[in-house]
Amino acid sequence: MKKKNSNIKAMALIDANNFYASCEQSINPYLRNKPIVILSNNDGCIIARSPEARILKIKMGAPYFKEKERLNKLNVTVLSSNYSLYGDMSKRLMNLLRNYCEEIEIYSIDEAFVSINRPNEKNLYPWAREVRSFIYQNLGITLTIGIGENKVRAKIANKLAKNIDSSAGIFDIVRIEDDNNYLKEISVDKVWGIGKQTSNWLKTKGVKNAKELRDIHEGEIVKKLGIVGKRLKLELKGNKCLPIEETKNPKKEIQVSRSFSKPITKLEDLTQALAIYAIRAAAKMRSQNLKSSTIRVFARTSHYSNRNYRRSACKKLINATDNTSTILKIIVALSKEIYNPEYKLSKAGVLMQDLTNCKYFQQSLINYESQEELKKSINLMTTIDLLNNRFNNKAITWAITKKTQEWAMNRNSLSKASTTNIKKIPIIVI
Ligand SMILES: [Mg+2]
Repeated sequence: MKKKNSNIKAMALIDANNFYASCEQSINPYLRNKPIVILSNNDGCIIARSPEARILKIKMGAPYFKEKERLNKLNVTVLSSNYSLYGDMSKRLMNLLRNYCEEIEIYSIDEAFVSINRPNEKNLYPWAREVRSFIYQNLGITLTIGIGENKVRAKIANKLAKNIDSSAGIFDIVRIEDDNNYLKEISVDKVWGIGKQTSNWLKTKGVKNAKELRDIHEGEIVKKLGIVGKRLKLELKGNKCLPIEETKNPKKEIQVSRSFSKPITKLEDLTQALAIYAIRAAAKMRSQNLKSSTIRVFARTSHYSNRNYRRSACKKLINATDNTSTILKIIVALSKEIYNPEYKLSKAGVLMQDLTNCKYFQQSLINYESQEELKKSINLMTTIDLLNNRFNNKAITWAITKKTQEWAMNRNSLSKASTTNIKKIPIIVI
C-alpha cells in the first residue's frame, strides 16, 4: 500500500553509530579501524565497543576483570569512559544538525528526532547523504538516518538502515511501495514505545512484528494500552500523532553520585566527596535556571558487602537556593548525619530536589534575603559558571576539593580532553 504523500514534513531519527567508541576514535586517529572498548565508571564493565571489537565477539556489559586477559591477547584498546568528551561531542553534533532541519528534539546523548520539509515526492536521500558527510567531516562520526512520516516509523527506518547492508546508513520508509516485508523484519519488542510487558502480551496474541502490530484489531490494542495503543497503530500506518518536542519537560531532580575507587571510612573523605558532587549538581542546576528547596545526601556500602548499610538525610529550605556556598554548608552538616565509622562506604551521592524555575522564585514572607544579597549571590555564581565554562570546569572551585582525593573514581585509561581543554589539543610533530 502506497502512502499517498501526505505530510509535507518528514521526520527522521538521526543516530550516531557506536557513539562513545567513535568519539574516542575521532580524537585519536591511531584508534581508527581498531578494536576498542570503553569501560563504565570505576572501570567496572564494558559499556561500548567499536565495530571491530564487536566482530571479535566481545560482550556488552561483561565485567572488565574477567575479560582483561582476553582483551590483551586480542590487542584491544581499553579506555575509561570520558563523559566530558562524549558530552561535548554530543553538543557539537546537535548544534551542527540544527543547520539541516526545521525542528530538532534531542532524544539522548547520540540520538535526535528532526523534522524536515519534503515537497511531494521529493527525494530525501541527497539531504541525508549531505548530513552524513558533513558530520563525518566535522566530527569524524558516522550517522544512521531513518526517515519516515512520524517518530515511530522514523525509528523503524533507522533500524532498517542499520540492518540492510546496502542502505549505506540511510533508509526512507516513505518511498517504499509495499512496506509489509520491511515491517515484518522489525520484531515487536523493537517498536518504539513497546516495553517488555506489552511485547510479552502481544506475543501471546500472536503479534510478533511491526506489521502484525499495525494490523492488530484496534479495539484489542485500545483495551490494553488505551490512547497510547491507538496512537501507536496510527503511527505505524503512517499518520503523525507525536510532535517533535524541542523543549523537554523540566527536570524533577538533579542527582550526582559516584562509586569510590576504595571504600571510605573517614568522615572527612565522605564530606569531601559529597561536597564535590554538590558543586557539580549546583552548577548543573544553575545551567537549567533551577533552584532547589530540598537537598538530600546518601551513602551506602557495596552490594557485595556482608554488612549492609544505607543512610540518607535531607534538609528542607524555607527559600530555594542555587548558591553553592549555601549548599555546601548544608552538605557538611548532612554528611555527619549519614556517616557511620563502622561501615566501609562504597558509594555516595547528592540530590537537588523540589526544583523550581528561577523565574518563578518566591521568597518566604518572614525569612527572606534582601534584594542586595540575592543580587550578590547571582553575580558571584554567574561569574564562577562563566569562568568554568570558558576555561575548564575547575578554574574556580571551593577549597574543600583541593585536598587529595584518595577515593576518587578509577579511570586508569582515560583519553585526553582534546575537545574541551586547550592544553590537551592534539599536536602534530613534523
Ligand atoms: Mg547510537
